[in-house]
Amino acid sequence: MPVAPVLILLGPPGAGKGTQARMLEEDFGLVQLSTGDLLRAAVAAGTEAGRKAKAVMEAGQLVSDDIVLAILKDRMAAPDVASGIILDGFPRTAGQAAALDTLLADAGQRVTAAVSLEVDDEAMIARVSGRYTCGTCGEGYHDQFKQPAKAGACDKCGGTAFKRRADDTAETVRERLNAYHAQTAPLIAHYDGQSVLERVPAMGSIASVRAMLADIVGRVSA
Ligand code: AMP
Repeated sequence: MPVAPVLILLGPPGAGKGTQARMLEEDFGLVQLSTGDLLRAAVAAGTEAGRKAKAVMEAGQLVSDDIVLAILKDRMAAPDVASGIILDGFPRTAGQAAALDTLLADAGQRVTAAVSLEVDDEAMIARVSGRYTCGTCGEGYHDQFKQPAKAGACDKCGGTAFKRRADDTAETVRERLNAYHAQTAPLIAHYDGQSVLERVPAMGSIASVRAMLADIVGRVSA
């Protein structure tokens, strides 16, 4: 279990949760815990949880709380989380938020800050449907907004294999946005009620959002 801080990134698909979580890892030595990444790894490994989750993820719907919580608890038992975590894509339902509160309370901890990345839905469809990553190091790119400097080679590691997520199509993103508004957006009020909510306007540049998050982390971990 982590000792501190515990940050949550909330926001619809395309808001920049994964990108910013990776930057917070670099800037503050925190560990990114992405339930989407953990689920994709389970699907790739063909585990029982992965087999159950696959079709649900491809349809843009939410995987059951039981599966997600089991996968997350397993990951949180690893020693590297002791330096503090950024939860990216978790919690996504009221049940997950309640389970997290209990898990942290049992360890004498609580959520340090829940950051809501505030964006426009329509822009998210273009953002998500053009994105891809380096298959070697995971660096993110976009057909329209961020191509590698040298075509076909990753700027960071030189890798030449790139991949796109199966659920990053315009149609599936609409489903994911619906799931976000129906099941996840209500958590903003949950964390406001705990006085840990931070709202960040996230339609600007990656660097500007990074700076705002750095301010928040500096303030809450002081
Ligand atoms: P993400 O990588 O966070 O965009 O997640 C990709 C997909 O994985 C989502 O559309 C869901 O199907 C599933 N998923 C990831 N995290 C969760 C979660 N906390 N609860 C339920 N489903 C999740």
